Order: sequence, then structure tokens, then C-alpha cells
Amino acid sequence: MKRGVIKTVLGACLLALAATPAFATDLTADQALTKLKEGNERFVSGKSMHPHTDAARLIQAGNEDQGKHAHATIISCSDSRVPVERIFDEGIMDTFIIRVAGNVVDTDEAGSIEYGLAHVNTPLFVVMGHTQCGAVKAVTAAVEGHGHPLEINIPPLVDNIEPAVKRAIAQNPKAEEKDIVPIAIVENVWQSVHDLFIKSAKVREMVKGGKVKVVGAIYDVSTGKVEWLPEEKVSTILADVEKDPKRQMQAMADEGKGHEEHGDKKEEHKEEGKKEEKHN
Ligand SMILES: [Zn+2]
Repeated sequence: MKRGVIKTVLGACLLALAATPAFATDLTADQALTKLKEGNERFVSGKSMHPHTDAARLIQAGNEDQGKHAHATIISCSDSRVPVERIFDEGIMDTFIIRVAGNVVDTDEAGSIEYGLAHVNTPLFVVMGHTQCGAVKAVTAAVEGHGHPLEINIPPLVDNIEPAVKRAIAQNPKAEEKDIVPIAIVENVWQSVHDLFIKSAKVREMVKGGKVKVVGAIYDVSTGKVEWLPEEKVSTILADVEKDPKRQMQAMADEGKGHEEHGDKKEEHKEEGKKEEKHN
């Protein structure tokens, strides 16, 4: 390596260290939340700093564990108007993000969230819905009896939104459809929190033990502003789920299985792998 190159790389490494005053996992959930709030204020006022987006951060990303840095796991909608890192003025290795139409929590999403909380060790989890959500609008139209034909894989995706829409209608029986949608969008955030708690004994355990804080939010696509929903609602949902016989009780995938059997299966897979290699 040429001396100039070494100098540049070394300089970049030092810069990376200097750019990280404290490991993000040192942040408490409340500090992580404050960071998101401040980032969103910068974004809304046109004062984004675009932190952690330079070459130094890339070097750091290639060499360090994201668990040392990422401070929030966030699930939001796939909608192109909801670019999560920009909304919070965050950069590389700052947030662990799941994006799915309607910010629903089904099995794959719950698994991703468990990964973000239990392995990337973020102290904060945010479910962020957004105004004018097309997924919630479509489900509301369908529940109101004038839906349109859906592609084969969409119904099992949006069925998670249905209970939220039905609750919004039940709470506001006289409201027009256009007025139901914003209420259903908020209900859908709570639905995702509920579905996560139902599916994940591990997340419930982490929340009860104070390791993780869960918050709901709504992003306004026309102003860029994030509205934070009442935090106490999460405790109410958790208490309800704890009484629900349908909740998953098993926290770990191999709980209750004989370790010997598990080990044998691993060996079988190894053998299969070897065979595959031979074919190639
Ligand atoms: Zn949406």
C-alpha cells in the first residue's frame, strides 16, 4: 500500500472514531427517542445534517458490529413518501428498519423486530404509520363494501389491517369513510404493537424487564412531521395481550426440543451440503 493511501485510510479511521462520541448502545430508550425527535425537527425545518453518511462511516460499518451503534428498531410503511432515515436525519448503522406495506407485523416482520431488539440490541422500538396510507385506505374501502380485486398475495398481507379498520368504524359509526381513514391509521399502529406482543414472548419479556421501550408514531407525508402517540397506550395493549390465551408463550425457536435431535439434524444438513458441493 502506498504511503498516501495508508495516510488516507488511517485518517478516515480516526475520523470514524472521532465521529462517534459514545456507542449508541450506551443510549437509553428515552435518549434514543430524543435523538429521533431532534432529527425529525431538523428534517422538518430544512436543517438536516445527514450524519454518518460519509466514507469514514462506511469503513466503520465494514469493521464494526452494528449492535454497538444502532439505537432504534423502526417498522414503517413501504410508501415512497416515508424515507425513514431522512425523516429522522439518521445515517448508516443508526437505525434497524423494517418497511412493509401498511407497517403490518406478521411472522417475518416479528422475526425482524426480534432480531433488531434481541441481537442488534436497540433499546427503542417504533411503529410508525403515516397519513394517507394506501394500504389502510384500501382495507377501509373493502370493509365498507366497495373494494376492488386484489393480486393473489395482497389479501394475506393486508388482513392484519382489518381489525384496526373495524375498530375505527365501530368507534365512529356515523363517520364518513374519508374521516375513518385517519382514525384507522392510528388504530393500525396499535394493531401492529398488539400483533407483535401476541407473536413474541421475547419482546414482551424485554418490554416488561425494561430492556426495550415501544412507541407509536404517525408521519405526516405533507409536512414531514412525526407525531408521537401516547406512550401509556402500549402498556394497556401489553396488559391485554398478557390475558390473551392466543399469545405465543415460547420465546425461543428450539425451546422444548431435544438438543440431541437438533444436533442430528444439523449433521444431516452438513452431509447434504457436502453432497451439493460434490454435484457442483
Ligand atoms: Zn402506507
